[in-house]
Amino acid sequence: MKLYNTLTKTIDDFKTHEEGVVKMYTCGPTVYHYAHIGNLRTYMMEDVLEKYLRFVGYDVKRTMNITDVGHLTSDADTGEDKMVKGAKREHKTVMEIAKQYTDAFFKDCEELNIRKPDIIVPATSYVGKFIKVIKSLQEKGYAYVEGGNVYFDTSKSENYGQLAGLSDNKDDLKVGVRSDVDEDLNKKNKNDFVLWFTKSKFEDQELKWNSPWGTGYPGWHIECSCISLENLGEYLDLHCGGVDNIFPHHTNEIAQSEAYIGHKWCTQWFHVQHLNDLTGKMSKSKGEFLTVSVLKNKGYNPLAYRFFCLQSHYRKPLTFTYDSLDNSAQAYSKLYAKVSSLSTEGEVDNDKLNSFINSFKEAMDYDLNTAQAVTVLYDVLKSDANDVTKRAAINEIDSVLSLGLKDAKEETKKEVDEERINKLISERAEAKKNKDYAKADEIRKQLSEEGIILIDTPQGTTFKIQ
Ligand code: AMP
Ligand code: ZN
Repeated sequence: MKLYNTLTKTIDDFKTHEEGVVKMYTCGPTVYHYAHIGNLRTYMMEDVLEKYLRFVGYDVKRTMNITDVGHLTSDADTGEDKMVKGAKREHKTVMEIAKQYTDAFFKDCEELNIRKPDIIVPATSYVGKFIKVIKSLQEKGYAYVEGGNVYFDTSKSENYGQLAGLSDNKDDLKVGVRSDVDEDLNKKNKNDFVLWFTKSKFEDQELKWNSPWGTGYPGWHIECSCISLENLGEYLDLHCGGVDNIFPHHTNEIAQSEAYIGHKWCTQWFHVQHLNDLTGKMSKSKGEFLTVSVLKNKGYNPLAYRFFCLQSHYRKPLTFTYDSLDNSAQAYSKLYAKVSSLSTEGEVDNDKLNSFINSFKEAMDYDLNTAQAVTVLYDVLKSDANDVTKRAAINEIDSVLSLGLKDAKEETKKEVDEERINKLISERAEAKKNKDYAKADEIRKQLSEEGIILIDTPQGTTFKIQ
């Protein structure tokens, strides 16, 4: 298999340290709010990657953290802890919102058929281990204390900017050179980052721990290094995240992990491009963002969103619009219906089955081309193979794509009362005219729960049965 590697910037042969075993680490969510569908694009593509590695026979050991402390609103180690900000917003404790949004995240994953990683570690459960590693970095001369915080000294690390393709011009790396960024003047070098915060402006930091440097809390980057090293060992094969994680998060993870273990840490870096909306990158900090529940309330099947994402390559930015989701949702319903109508009687033609699986592998083996893999599903349906062979191929392919097509069955047709639906559509239009959007949304939701999806067009509202 070949996979693009952000570290080498080439499509490389996928190799592992131990034959047949993949040690895979995924940066988990910061649980101060719901995950938006952009975050979930990243988790879905990582899920496809994990399942495909298993499909071709690897034993995948996968770990993910849950960020419930230390991720500040600014990458320059300034700003507020996102968790503290989220807790204030909801008048709850940090631990309450951490639980609420961790549960919500895994519910979204379930709706999107994303498998739970084997090992999941909340950062707050590992603080003692972070302190041990920070102490060791300080003893080795990679960390310094300034203004009460412990910093990692990036000037000591070789190839600091390799992953992010940063300039190694030393002048660029000095503090105070750029006036456009909010810099922490305690740092010796511009890219130095906090391993442990003690002196900070966040007096209301709710979660704090004792440490050799005073009461405080860990920086964000140290959590992923420690959680990965502790659970997956010193040789990591695959590290994943969205492209915004490349710098500074993953760059800093490499610097501190390699300083701690004294050798190369992770060989392959997999990054998923962003989901954008028409205003740019979808992000939680913008305030308005789309979640799986929003899509469901509008009547979309979450798997139609999965289908929408798989139709495009993970290394290309993807723009979300309701029009394009509608197209995918319609295509998904048709695909599901076609698979459902396949008979389960007869004998599987193994030659044909193998040839379908080979086409699927060909697509996935070259940098996880899920769009091509979806085309293979259509090729199977169009082929002259008998129905059971088609079903067998689709079941196997869907063990990776997870579009809910495995053993798809035709649902019994619902009785539809068109008159009633049209009456509700008129009531909704009237509510919208009167700016009573709550009522309008309520009608949409009520119908969606019955499997009736409203489609707004310039010519008026129509509906479809899911
Ligand atoms: P966070 O919860 O902010 O720590 O992000 C969780 C994951 O989502 C990380 O891997 C991010 O890189 C990724 N991510 C953030 N924004 C987007 C986006 N708009 N599209 C795709 N992935 C994203
Ligand atoms: Zn991370």
